[in-house]
Order: sequence, then C-alpha cells, then structure tokens
Amino acid sequence: MRILVVEDDTLLASGIRAALAQAGFTADAVGSAEHALAALQTGESFDLAIVDIGLPGIDGLELVRRLRAQRSALPALVLTARDSLEDCVNALQLGADDYLTKPFRVPELVARIHAVLRRAQARSEQVLRFGPLVMDVQARSCDLAGRPLELTPSEWQILEMLATSAPRVATRERLVQTLAGWDRDLSGNALEVHVSRLRAKLEGALLIRTIRGLGYRLDEPE
Ligand code: CA
Repeated sequence: MRILVVEDDTLLASGIRAALAQAGFTADAVGSAEHALAALQTGESFDLAIVDIGLPGIDGLELVRRLRAQRSALPALVLTARDSLEDCVNALQLGADDYLTKPFRVPELVARIHAVLRRAQARSEQVLRFGPLVMDVQARSCDLAGRPLELTPSEWQILEMLATSAPRVATRERLVQTLAGWDRDLSGNALEVHVSRLRAKLEGALLIRTIRGLGYRLDEPE
C-alpha cells in the first residue's frame, strides 16, 4: 500500500513517513497541494492520501474538493488543527473519508488508515467471496453455502477482515483495531469471544485458524 502525505510541516511529515514505514506502508511526502496534484497527474499510483488542511497556497480542503471534482476515488484522510470542528465537517462534506485532529498518536493514525482503506476496498469490491462464503458488503448480507448467515456487527467486522485478508493472516492487532470502532470498551478476551461465536456459526463449513502470536486465518476445510 502506497500513501501520499501532503503536509508542509517537514518535521511532522518525516515523522508520519517513518511511522507509516514501520506499519508496513510505503509513503511519499509532498509539502503542498500543488505538488500533490502534480504527483497524481503524472500517473503515480497511491492507495490513500493524508492531507493536512493548513497548507500554503491551495489548502487541504480545496485539494480534497478538486480531487473529488476530478472524480478521483483516492481515499483521503484529513489532518486538522485542534478545535476546528467546522474544518472536520467541511472536509467530510467535500469528500474526505475521515479526519484526525492534531496532535494524534501513531497507533490512532494507523488504525484510521486501515479503516479508510478497508472501506475503500469494500466500496470497490461490493461482494467478498471465499470458498462457500459470500458477503455482500453493500447489502450487508452474508451467505454460507447458499444459506443466509446472521451476524452481529462485531462478527461481521471480523469475518469481513478475515475474508479480505484470506489466505493471509488477519493480525490480532488489526482485528482489535477494527472492533474498537464498534465496541469501544473492547478489552481482555473480547476478540476471542467473538471469534468463538463466529466459529460456531460457520459450523465447520469454513475454519478460523488461530495462528499463535499473530492472529487468525480463514481457511477451507481439507
Ligand atoms: Ca500545515
């Protein structure tokens, strides 16, 4: 995944780049909206843009507006100064996918990025399939071997991430970050509880394997 960081504060930009690299992303930073537009127009491919609102020249809100006016589907996470609720609301109305208020902590930034990317992926792939599992993301309906599967919101989140990640492992960290959006007080073994309920609902038609020290992997039975 490649991320474009649009931030004129060079110290913050390099901090974000380093944090993203550590989280497994590739990141390129530019200091202005003009440079961002130029980079995008040369056909460079990015999966997400992190856009500071306070930029010299064209500001971050205008950048998001222009991207959407150009029918760009590039997911955008906007960074705002503290206490600018109006900016946050404007950003979302102009087509930003989410916003984060400065100062923020790296784990929160990474969690927001994963959430935005996941939503963008769900938008582009309306139907997720894995073996006998079919998840219609838009209709929010799930079938297993042709039979409807009733899921709680938390179970849906977990299964969606497992199906998106399969055949790779969905890490425990990402699953917990995903669930925290639904289950703010997620603690202790809440993830394990949801996973075990999900396993029961899958009735062996699909397996959720525990990968020790790492997370879980969706698998078809032998
Ligand atoms: Ca700035």
